[in-house]
Amino acid sequence: MKATSYVSLFLLLLLVCTAVTGPRASAADGSGDVIRIYTAEDLLQIADNPSGNYLLMSDIDLNGVEWPAITFSGRFDGNNHILLNLNKPAVSTETRVTYDGNRKTYDTVFCGLFALLEHAEVKNVRLLGVDIFTDIEADCFVGGIAGYASESTIENCEVSGTLRLDVTGKMFGVGGIIGYGNSVVRSCKADVTLINIDKDASTRDEEFLGGICAAGYPDMDGNTISIKGFLSDHGYVHSGGLVGMYIVYPKRFQRDGFIKNNTLEGFITFFEDNTNRRAYCEKQCGEIMDWVFSDSGNVYHFTRDERKTYNVNLLPHGDCKDPTFDVSEIPASCTEPGKTMHMCRTCGYTYFDNYTLPVHTPGEEYTTVSESTLTEQGIAEYTCTECGTVFRGYLPLLTPTPTPLPTEVPTPTAVPEETSTDSADRSTPASGETGTPEWVLPAAIAGVCVLAAVLLFIVILRERSRRSRRSRIR
Ligand SMILES: [Zn+2]
Ligand SMILES: [Zn+2]
Repeated sequence: MKATSYVSLFLLLLLVCTAVTGPRASAADGSGDVIRIYTAEDLLQIADNPSGNYLLMSDIDLNGVEWPAITFSGRFDGNNHILLNLNKPAVSTETRVTYDGNRKTYDTVFCGLFALLEHAEVKNVRLLGVDIFTDIEADCFVGGIAGYASESTIENCEVSGTLRLDVTGKMFGVGGIIGYGNSVVRSCKADVTLINIDKDASTRDEEFLGGICAAGYPDMDGNTISIKGFLSDHGYVHSGGLVGMYIVYPKRFQRDGFIKNNTLEGFITFFEDNTNRRAYCEKQCGEIMDWVFSDSGNVYHFTRDERKTYNVNLLPHGDCKDPTFDVSEIPASCTEPGKTMHMCRTCGYTYFDNYTLPVHTPGEEYTTVSESTLTEQGIAEYTCTECGTVFRGYLPLLTPTPTPLPTEVPTPTAVPEETSTDSADRSTPASGETGTPEWVLPAAIAGVCVLAAVLLFIVILRERSRRSRRSRIR
C-alpha cells in the first residue's frame, strides 16, 4: 500500500469524525399551533415568543421567579390552572402614552403578569397569592393580569393577593385586573388589596386606583370584585370600586362601552393632600370623564373612607393599636392552594401567606400515556383518591441497563427536579442535562481518530524503513 493511500484513508476517517461531532439537530420546538406549558421554565419562554398561542397544563409556583416584563400579543389559556405567588415581576422598559383628565400625556411604564397586553387574549387563569411591591421613580401603572391592556380580552380570570405601588411620579396607579387601558374584562374574579403610596409630597400628581382598572375605558361584564383599597396621595385622587377614572382616549376618539352585571364589595381608604380637593372615590368609577357606557345590573356594597391626616401613609391594619396574631395552617386541597392564616387577636384583621400549590392524591393504578425513554420522561394518568379527578404526572426516565419497563410505582407530577430537567431538555435543546454530558461521545470519537492516526503513522514509518532496508540489501 502506498503512503498516499494511507494519507487519503486518514483524511476520510477525519471527515467521518467531523460529521459525527458537528452540531446536532435541535429537538422539536413548540412550532405547533398550541404551545403547552408545564413548568415555570416553559412559562418564561413566552418572553421569547410573545405572540404565541399558549395552553397552561399544570399549576405553577412562581415564588421567587424573576418574572420578565412581557409585551404579549398572543393567546394565553390558563386552562383553569393556578399561577401561584407572582412576587417578582419586572417593570417594563417599554413605555406607552397614558392620558390624565386634562388629556395631558405621559410616557409610562407598566408591571403585571403581562406588563403589556396588545391585541391579546388571556383567559381561564387563576393568578393567586399575588404579592407585587413596586417601588419606583417613574410614571407607572400596576395591574394583576396586565399593567397596560389595549384592544385585548381578559375572560374568566382570577386575581387574589396584594398589589402595592410606592412611587415618585406624576401619573400612576394600581388596578386589580389591569392598570391602565381599554379592552374587555369579562367573568373575572378579583379579591385584592390595592395599595398606592405617593412618596413625593411636593408634586401635585394624578393618582388612580380601581378594583378592575385604575384608569381607562374597559368594557366590564359579569365580574365579581372584592377590594380593599389604600391610597395616600399629595395630588389628585381618582378611585373607584371598579375604575379609578373612566376616560376615553385619545382626544376626539368616540365609542360606546358597557359596565354590566358586575358585583362589587369592599372599601377604599384614602387621603388627598391638596388644597384644591376633589377627592374622587365612588363605588363604580371615581371620576367619569366620558359617560359613554351603558350601565346595568351592577351590585355594589362599598364603603368610601376618606381620611384627613396626611403624614401617615395608609396601609392595611394601619389603625390597629395592638397587633398580635394567631397563626394557623390551611392545608392545600385538590383545587385550592394551602396557606398560612394570620389573624389579629385585637381587631380580627386577617392576611394569608406561604401559599402552596394544590395537591391531588394519586391512586396506585395508572395508565401510561407515553413511555419513558432514556432522555425523555413518559407521562401517566392517575386518578385522585380524594376527588376522582384524572390527572397527569411524569414517569421516571428509563435506565440504560437492559431491564424491562419500570415496575415500581412512579412519583406523579409535583416533582420539581425531574419536571424541570425534562423542561430544560425540551426548551433548550443544546444544553443537554440528561445524565451523560454531550461532549463525551465526540471526545471518544476524536480519541479513536487520534489513535488511528498514530497507528497509521507507525505503519507508514515501518513500511518506509522496510523499503529502505530492502533497497540497502539490494
Ligand atoms: Zn389588629
Ligand atoms: Zn383531587
